[in-house]
Amino acid sequence: MTSPRYKRILLKLSGEVLMGAGQFGIDPATCDRVAREIKAARDAGHELCIVVGGGNIFRGLAGAAKGFERASADYMGMLATIMNALALQNALERAGVDTRVQSAIPMASVCEPYIRRRAQRHLEKGRVVIFAAGVGSPFFTTDTGAALRAAEMNCDALFKGTSVDGVYDADPKKVPTAKRYERLTFGRVLADDLKVMDASAVALCRDNNVPIVVFNIRDEGNLAAVLDGRGVSTIVENTTEEAANAGL
Ligand code: UDP
Repeated sequence: MTSPRYKRILLKLSGEVLMGAGQFGIDPATCDRVAREIKAARDAGHELCIVVGGGNIFRGLAGAAKGFERASADYMGMLATIMNALALQNALERAGVDTRVQSAIPMASVCEPYIRRRAQRHLEKGRVVIFAAGVGSPFFTTDTGAALRAAEMNCDALFKGTSVDGVYDADPKKVPTAKRYERLTFGRVLADDLKVMDASAVALCRDNNVPIVVFNIRDEGNLAAVLDGRGVSTIVENTTEEAANAGL
């Protein structure tokens, strides 16, 4: 058997992915479905760590717009990601997947603190590790947290699960002729301001040579399919020349 291109991945799930058809909060059936996707990838031999967002519950920017102090609002947003992490852990454990939650904001009676080496050991033992609370500081997002953890955990790629099957040249929900890119460079994403992830997350992935794979997490079986090269996605990466020039 050939070794897969992406053995260890970081899966970024925005909070909205856990919302299901609702407009707010956590839908248990959706958590179960996402857990089955993760289990299928794990059972196929991949090592997975996950960063969850919190936008289905609270976003700092939205809170600040309503009058909360920005830093406090961001901490509230980070706490929301911990709720999502516990919900996903629960679903994964129901599916029979050993899971640990590590939070960038220590919360000893709820989950482990973020400890890089311990997280690595969990992955080596076949456990799924969910990283909560982003980078642990306000004025960041969980996209940046995902890029940071992907680099720290030596992931082969960052998989960004969304509700579309890649990056398009226009919004495919509004423009029927919109075209999906198969491949993009980080430079193009940044120069054209393509909506893949936050610019700081894209730059971090570029500088650490971590490809970003954008795919649809709502399609049943799609994560495992994209991982073994069958599924539909857009891959954002450095060209060989760019990587060599940057000494990567
Ligand atoms: N947040 C933060 N620092 C981080 C990560 C997240 O302050 O390192 C806060 C921020 O307010 C953000 C909220 O947590 O709006 C939820 O995260 P995010 O918006 O990234 O969630 P997603 O859009 O992925 O659901």
